[in-house]
Amino acid sequence: MKVIFLVLLFVSGVFSKGFNDEGSTYNPFTFVKAIKTANNAYTLEFRNDEESYFTNFYITSKGVIAFDPLSDIAAYEYVKQIKKYAPNKPLLAIVYSHLHTDHIAGARVLREEFGKNVPIIAHERVEKYLDYYNLSYIDKPNILIPYSGKTMKFGNTTIEFKYLGSAHTDSIIVAIIKEIKQAYICDFANNDVVGWTNLPGINLDELIKMKKEVLKLDIDVITFCHGKPGTKEAIKRQVKYYDTLFKEVSFSISKGMSLEETQNSIELEEFKYFKNYDDWFKGNIEAVYLWLKRTK
Ligand SMILES: [Zn+2]
Repeated sequence: MKVIFLVLLFVSGVFSKGFNDEGSTYNPFTFVKAIKTANNAYTLEFRNDEESYFTNFYITSKGVIAFDPLSDIAAYEYVKQIKKYAPNKPLLAIVYSHLHTDHIAGARVLREEFGKNVPIIAHERVEKYLDYYNLSYIDKPNILIPYSGKTMKFGNTTIEFKYLGSAHTDSIIVAIIKEIKQAYICDFANNDVVGWTNLPGINLDELIKMKKEVLKLDIDVITFCHGKPGTKEAIKRQVKYYDTLFKEVSFSISKGMSLEETQNSIELEEFKYFKNYDDWFKGNIEAVYLWLKRTK
């Protein structure tokens, strides 16, 4: 999820802490905990002012694979956690899940510690995006995943990188760690979290199609970049959430209700426990309302 914190920054005085780069440093994460999800597989939980972020690292027989390094601040803690659970192991690669900078800044901190030449893996469009916007504070990928996907072997660990669709930027890769039947999924599906604000720019049909694609994967565990590690049951709950929301909003539209009337009339009791429901549910209604008006 892409978040602009500029107003908050002035209020909280983060600038005064001496950070001098755009982007990667202003996402002031607090480390929460490390969660062991399988043998040699760890999820790190962080929080910022708004929401929880998760990322993963895997310890292979040859070294460590680190996913989304989040931000410089998070990456300093990320280094400590790798050294704690994989002492003296080299870092074999960093993986970017997609092009949103709130997940992928911070690689340079990992590389300062583990070596400037640690390769960075990402979908091919991430490189194009970083070139186009010239985001100098984010290290560019040098192993590119094509739309057709790619499988790579790191010591005793096989990782398949798959492209399932373009709903949350046309750059998202799903990583499947074959030996432990575990997937890492970022942003286009989460574990018991409502959609981010009013789902700006998201093709909702594609979004739901991608979630259903995940259900076909040969995996037992899913780790998410938002929400705790879970299983396919989390994806099923997400699909049900959107199905229910689509039905409710369709009904309002069929009754000739305005967006505001629709927002004031729908509550989904079953999903009120989803994280950020109070903040973003009305935004989700707006997204579905405008989507149905535009496409159906
Ligand atoms: Zn994102």
